[in-house]
Amino acid sequence: MFESLSDRLSGVLDKLTKRGALSESDVSEAMREVRRALIEADVALPVVRSFTDKVKNRAVGQEVLKSVTPGQQVVKIVHDQLVEMLGSDAKPIDLDAPAPVCIMMVGLQGSGKTTTTGKIARRLTERDRRKVLMASLDTRRPAAQEQLKVLGEQNGVDTLPIIAGQTPVQIANRAMTAAKLGGYDVVMLDTAGRIHIDEPLMVEMAEVRKASNPHEILLVADALTGQDAVNLATAFDERVGITGIVLTRMDGDGRGGAALSMRAVTGKPVKLIGTGEKADALEEFHPSRIADRILG
Ligand code: GDP
Repeated sequence: MFESLSDRLSGVLDKLTKRGALSESDVSEAMREVRRALIEADVALPVVRSFTDKVKNRAVGQEVLKSVTPGQQVVKIVHDQLVEMLGSDAKPIDLDAPAPVCIMMVGLQGSGKTTTTGKIARRLTERDRRKVLMASLDTRRPAAQEQLKVLGEQNGVDTLPIIAGQTPVQIANRAMTAAKLGGYDVVMLDTAGRIHIDEPLMVEMAEVRKASNPHEILLVADALTGQDAVNLATAFDERVGITGIVLTRMDGDGRGGAALSMRAVTGKPVKLIGTGEKADALEEFHPSRIADRILG
């Protein structure tokens, strides 16, 4: 992830640091190149525009150009602005609510939703010592319910027994009741996905939300999907209301646009990233580390 963006940006910024004195037009020219690099990396246009405008304003507005090392100062401004765009601080999953705390997982089919549900449940169980119950609400694909059950068995996490013929809302209600009776700390609802966003999916998500009153609604999105990921996040946020984003396949060699745009477009933090298929391939999203990686 980010390789070509990183190469492009370091090219532009190296040129600036090597020059010594800088004029306003040098900064403008560099920002045009930064803009092109971000667009090629699939970053959403409004995000690109706001990013380069902010860097330019800060660079020309603050005695930067008159300083002894203007190039390095501009590089620092680019870094700080990247961090701000990515959300400043890491935002862990929030479990600060009366038990059982419900985490609803939403997203398109194939985004990595079930795998991520298993990864988070495993982490909450092993690292945070929480008692977790997982339930699959994918009534259209019995294989999905089976997949979650297997993940639970592999990772030592309980899953709600499967009862054929129940609706997603009925399963959600049953999960919340079972969690209360069983003394669980956390309930994870792995909702159904679709290939594309459609109206029945959104209606179903809203109903499940109403029934389970989740404390976190995490959108699972594939980091390789580029611009589409932004539309996806906007749609889910408008219709269901998300509290955070999990980006999967950050181990792949995508251009990184989704990772760089989603927080800025939705205002919702990227909380976690998936970095592989294995159950422990889950990391917190640290904006400053990502910015360091991009700027090399
Ligand atoms: P769902 O339909 O959204 O529930 O998607 P799944 O959880 O079944 O995942 C679809 C495929 O993506 C599976 O083969 C997963 O192993 C794979 N996958 C999920 N997360 C990641 C990730 O972070 N990195 C990689 N490389 N593969 C992932």
